[in-house]
Amino acid sequence: MAKTDVTLIGAGLVGALLATLLAQRGFSVTVYERRRDPRVAGYAGGRSINLALAERGLHGLRLAGMTDTVMKLAVMMRGRMVHHRDGHAELLRYGRDDSEVIWSVSRGRLNMALIEAAENAGARFEFDRRLTGARFGDGAVLAFENEGGEAFEQRAPFAIGADGAGSALRAAMNAAHPLGERIEPLGHGYKELEIPALPDFPATSLPPDAAEALARGERFAIEPNALHIWPRGNYMCIALPNAEGSFTVTLFLPNEGNPSFATVDSPAAARTLFERDFADALPLLPDLENDFAANPVGVLATLYLDRWHLDGKALLVGDAAHAIVPFHGQGMNCGFEDAVELADLFAANPGDVAAVFADFERRRRPNAEAIAAMALENYVEMRDSVADPAFLLRRELGRVLAQRNPERFVPRYSMVTFTRMPYAEAFSRGASQERLLRQLTEGRTRLDEIDLADADAKVRREIEPLAS
Ligand SMILES: Cc1cc2nc3c(=O)[nH]c(=O)nc-3n(C[C@H](O)[C@H](O)[C@H](O)COP(=O)(O)OP(=O)(O)OC[C@H]3O[C@@H](n4cnc5c(N)ncnc54)[C@H](O)[C@@H]3O)c2cc1C
Repeated sequence: MAKTDVTLIGAGLVGALLATLLAQRGFSVTVYERRRDPRVAGYAGGRSINLALAERGLHGLRLAGMTDTVMKLAVMMRGRMVHHRDGHAELLRYGRDDSEVIWSVSRGRLNMALIEAAENAGARFEFDRRLTGARFGDGAVLAFENEGGEAFEQRAPFAIGADGAGSALRAAMNAAHPLGERIEPLGHGYKELEIPALPDFPATSLPPDAAEALARGERFAIEPNALHIWPRGNYMCIALPNAEGSFTVTLFLPNEGNPSFATVDSPAAARTLFERDFADALPLLPDLENDFAANPVGVLATLYLDRWHLDGKALLVGDAAHAIVPFHGQGMNCGFEDAVELADLFAANPGDVAAVFADFERRRRPNAEAIAAMALENYVEMRDSVADPAFLLRRELGRVLAQRNPERFVPRYSMVTFTRMPYAEAFSRGASQERLLRQLTEGRTRLDEIDLADADAKVRREIEPLAS
């Protein structure tokens, strides 16, 4: 039987995993990518040097047979290390123990490993091919350009757009048949900075504790196995570890107001902000001014579409269909779930592409909308609530109720991060749990003021048992 041809646009994280999964199932896959081959030309990043990988993403990598390769590149993060204004830091564990953790991986290395895996599985890559437009009739006619400005046209029975938040395939689909696109800017942006690996610190600016750690042969200037957060109310800094010992620091600020990227608009202004608000982080950032000047302010927005496909001719996946803000660390994880689900649907029904696309959208869109909402809520949690005693009491009670009622109560962060429960279900269960936690902690400041037997009874009354 002839193999079904699948044409993908974009060899980013989602496109490369989807290519692997489809090629492994016997499809004949061709991927067109705007950039040059990163394995030859070096990875041209542009955005978040590292990413948090969680269970949903790991599941996709497992199916592709890539866990060993990827875990060699990963650094475990057990929880949030919260750095308070007074300089003290505390670890808020994500899960019960080290079986419930997330992993920091390099975007570039992960992307290259995925491209390699896809090629080994039989997928074909055409690099330096930027999609510039598409027409849809009896199939799709795709227009490409290379860096030298040469134009190419390619016919395909259908095309799948994994070309990211600014998807050119989405623009062409939208022009042919409006998709109901809405882009909601967050009103906050981000800037990346770096804590170097200890051996790379300029000798004159080694922080005192770090000098001792370096003498012991250590590479990380701060705790490696955590996602560090400096929450400051309306804004924050975070830092994720890189395998070689550095940390990628991301400063999130509003675009307007004070402080914002409108007022913190120069390296000198960045130093003043850090001296005032992130004093304990400042000694860790010897290149603050240079990084601030060199790196752009990244834009953050949520993309909503009423429609992800044009019948059997085109489909969007990953960020091209549902770009979200990064505060739950789930954009790639959600895109990897897309890849697994789409590959399964194709394998089950290869002869009816229109049905596969419609089914994919029906199953995935409610889940994408749920994680989009949870990611927006998590920004408030990270930058503000982790320093709020009422939030911390609800969190502590949630963990106790989860231990006492494991068949019903699972903290929302855990459902999203450590399970593959559909996001929409995690969202609605999380809302019921949160209502209960607010009711049980109202007027209380300590856990021992709460009647746990009564709380258990309420859990049994108000929270549905988990599906086994
Ligand atoms: C600051 C930040 C931090 C993040 N942190 C996390 C995290 O911790 N965990 C997590 O799960 N997610 C995170 N994300 C989200 C994650 O980066 C995205 O969800 C993920 O990259 C989506 O993958 P994708 O393949 O759909 O798109 P992309 O990664 O954007 O890949 C798109 C690919 O298409 C190519 N392309 C684009 N246009 C064209 C064209 N016209 N023709 C041909 N090729 C084209 C691009 O070159 C690229 O290779 C973060 C995002 C940001 C902005």
